[in-house]
Amino acid sequence: VADIVDQATRSQMMSGIRSRNTKPERIIRSGLHRRGFRFSLHNRRLRGTPDLALPKHGALIFVHGCFWHGHDCHFFKMPSTRPEFWKAKFARNQANDASARATLLEDGWRILTIWECAVRDRPEKDVAALLDRIGAWLKSTRRTLELRGPRRRAA
Ligand SMILES: [Zn+2]
Repeated sequence: VADIVDQATRSQMMSGIRSRNTKPERIIRSGLHRRGFRFSLHNRRLRGTPDLALPKHGALIFVHGCFWHGHDCHFFKMPSTRPEFWKAKFARNQANDASARATLLEDGWRILTIWECAVRDRPEKDVAALLDRIGAWLKSTRRTLELRGPRRRAA
């Protein structure tokens, strides 16, 4: 696992705490702030505690850690120790994501999901383009958007 997740993620994995204020999240936050968007953070009154809430735009943003949420990308690798434990954990996290998402959509929220791999280790110009895309989505009336990095190549 050592080369897949950073120190902070590893200690969260051990303690079972959900990741907050991760680097990808900070990049999204400062980029949107610079583009004039205002938001609140980690509102626990909303299902799934979205990382950012923009009520003015009717929008919620989730920044998903690829390891933590079991993403199909190069940042995810099933841990070799206790694989059954981890499989169950990732399945639970994914089920929680899906159920929170369904509830929030039903409540009329628009939802943007940004995967860590869309931001992490990406060239600066790609991140800037991503932030512009997010800004355009926020100003639109589109209900959902999911942004991810390159797919894992087939073995
Ligand atoms: Zn990913």
